[in-house]
Amino acid sequence: MAASKPVHVLQLYPRDMNIYGDFGNALVLQRRLQWRGYEPILHSYDPEDEFPEQVDVVIGGGGQDSGQDKIQQDLLRIGDKLHRLAEGGTPMLMICGLYQLFGHSFRTREGREIKGVGILDLHTEGTDTRLIGNVVAESAEFGEILGYENHSGQTYLGPGVQPLARVTKGEGNNAKDSYEGARFKNIVGSYLHGSLLPKNPAIADFLIAKAVENRYQEQIQPQIEPAGTGQPVEELTRAARATATRR
Ligand code: GLN
Repeated sequence: MAASKPVHVLQLYPRDMNIYGDFGNALVLQRRLQWRGYEPILHSYDPEDEFPEQVDVVIGGGGQDSGQDKIQQDLLRIGDKLHRLAEGGTPMLMICGLYQLFGHSFRTREGREIKGVGILDLHTEGTDTRLIGNVVAESAEFGEILGYENHSGQTYLGPGVQPLARVTKGEGNNAKDSYEGARFKNIVGSYLHGSLLPKNPAIADFLIAKAVENRYQEQIQPQIEPAGTGQPVEELTRAARATATRR
């Protein structure tokens, strides 16, 4: 039997930052790594936990403002480690609440300043309006991106990041500029739950491709056919994408 090739996936703060099915992102990475013959090892990290030694992909989800309060100090505590990983090209996916906290700051509706870890050049302002609903966005890198947003914080990008996509339905980062998410190095930030990766396998495969390139200097095949299904995975994901209504 071929030697196993572990790929370590770290989920940040699942206790407080994990809503609207964000855990689905971990499951998709796990399954798609297995389909390609890698051995996914899922680590969850909550405040005060020991930070794993080996990390190949980092993911983080959304949460209430109160959840963001709970993890903020700890996020700053592990900030150096996350900066080092980001600089070294570790792929990361940050959704909504953690996307906001990967930026410089989040000023809540009540005017409280939650300091971010500053990996992404962006900042967020709490508002009285919630941006809620299904989102369709166009990305040159990943094609059409589908998801669901629900946030009162509105995010503005600085010159150090690129937008992930441009919304054609819904709002994305804020109610003004029609950008959704951010791209920097191998990091994808996004407001989209749903969860994001089951509906958008191109993003999942981007994260996986970067992880195995960094760790094993291997390229992944773009097309995969999960054993026993007789169908390319794109067909299997069509059903998941169809559940994201375009209304
Ligand atoms: N609490 C943040 C906001 O409402 C994040 C919400 C979320 O993660 N869905 O802006």
